[in-house]
Amino acid sequence: MIRQKIVAGNWKMNGSKESVSSLVNGLLEMENSGSEVVIAPSFPYLSQVDGLISGSRIVLAAQNASQEVKGAFTGEVSASMLSDFGVKYVLVGHSERRSLYGESDELVAAKVKTIFEFGLTPMLCIGETLAERESGKTLEVCERQIQAVIDLVGISAFEQLVVAYEPVWAIGTGLSASAEQAQEVHQSIRAFLAKLSESVAEKVQILYGGSVKASTSSALFQMPDVDGALVGGASLDAKEFIAIVKTAG
Ligand code: PEP
Repeated sequence: MIRQKIVAGNWKMNGSKESVSSLVNGLLEMENSGSEVVIAPSFPYLSQVDGLISGSRIVLAAQNASQEVKGAFTGEVSASMLSDFGVKYVLVGHSERRSLYGESDELVAAKVKTIFEFGLTPMLCIGETLAERESGKTLEVCERQIQAVIDLVGISAFEQLVVAYEPVWAIGTGLSASAEQAQEVHQSIRAFLAKLSESVAEKVQILYGGSVKASTSSALFQMPDVDGALVGGASLDAKEFIAIVKTAG
């Protein structure tokens, strides 16, 4: 089955009105290609970016959403608010949220459920730490993180969400997994989902994330189970991000 590739940029907590505008204007020079291009600015810039990308091929994502729908949750942002700003995807379970803000597998699953309720598409981030990889627990961790979501929303939901395999040891470290290491895990994730539904496993797009650059993306995208990339640092440089998108074809 041919799955469309997605190249998504996670800008994390970076930017100003001025830098956001120049980054988006740089990205708008991108030529058309077959992959879907997604950018995830910080919340305050969603409206600005939504306006700038209007009519282009670039799609908007948010970096987080509350599991709650509305009410007395000071500082939180709901999925319904995000849907007011042209957001299509919402990152959920990013390792920085899990490790720095204590987001559990169950909380991540609750967020996935709420994001779906408002018609948005969760980009579910999973992945192991270095210690977990070194003790042979990579798949156990990825499967546990996925299972929590299946337990709450069911396997069929995986037809409508995107999985991003992001080994924690590769995020922001410059240490990208090799294309073969990424393929091995992506294939195993697909096999894990196939035990519950072969058709869902065939359809689900699994992105790789962790220090992706234009110099590494081409090999990654040639792997049969790598359906794109979630790019952090390199997505803040329009030329580099465009070069990554080009390698996706
Ligand atoms: C990320 O934050 O999702 C990420 C993959 O970051 P980086 O590309 O900088 O490792």
